[in-house]
Amino acid sequence: MALQIQHNLRSRNLRGLLLTRLSREQGRVTSRLGVTHDAVEVDPEMNVFDLAKSVMVRRGKLDYLVADEAQFYTAEQVEQMSMVVDELAADVYAFGLITDFRGLLFPGTKRLLEIADERSELQVEARCWCGEGAIFNARLVNGQLTYDGDVVVVGDTDDLEAEVSYELLCRRHFNEGRRPVLQHRLIELPSDEQFESQLSKDLRSDANS
Ligand SMILES: [Zn+2]
Repeated sequence: MALQIQHNLRSRNLRGLLLTRLSREQGRVTSRLGVTHDAVEVDPEMNVFDLAKSVMVRRGKLDYLVADEAQFYTAEQVEQMSMVVDELAADVYAFGLITDFRGLLFPGTKRLLEIADERSELQVEARCWCGEGAIFNARLVNGQLTYDGDVVVVGDTDDLEAEVSYELLCRRHFNEGRRPVLQHRLIELPSDEQFESQLSKDLRSDANS
């Protein structure tokens, strides 16, 4: 999606900048079609506004900024992107996930939702294996659902044996993996006779009153 927008803007002769974070291949955004575009890899320390302004001064023009993997940006960097809109009059298009594997908003996404002029959901097609709309991007470690751990797992983790994968799930199936933790207990009900006699007692007292 980020690449598609970038392509559309470029073909309209607009000049811009493509930003990404934590892509597998450093500083490149790869689409499934195998198209790669030079992109600037944003690290948490980078001031996105200063970067955009520098590019604008160098080229004499900056029409847009496309930010991929925007969920990984810091809240400050999202603020800086809003300054690119307000101070440099460039359009900023940010693409990213809404929630992490625990089902919580990414900090960057949270700030984006708070301050963006417009937002639109692109994952309407995402489905759980049961057919329900998927709203969670669950993390599986060795095939098991996990609900804790670092929000970002990059390349070489300590546990090289662990195989980390992700699966789109509906809320019900996301929470199903938690059942051993949240054990439900049945409430102990009185036996049928006790229940009946209590019920008839209640009915009698109702009639007497
Ligand atoms: Zn499901």
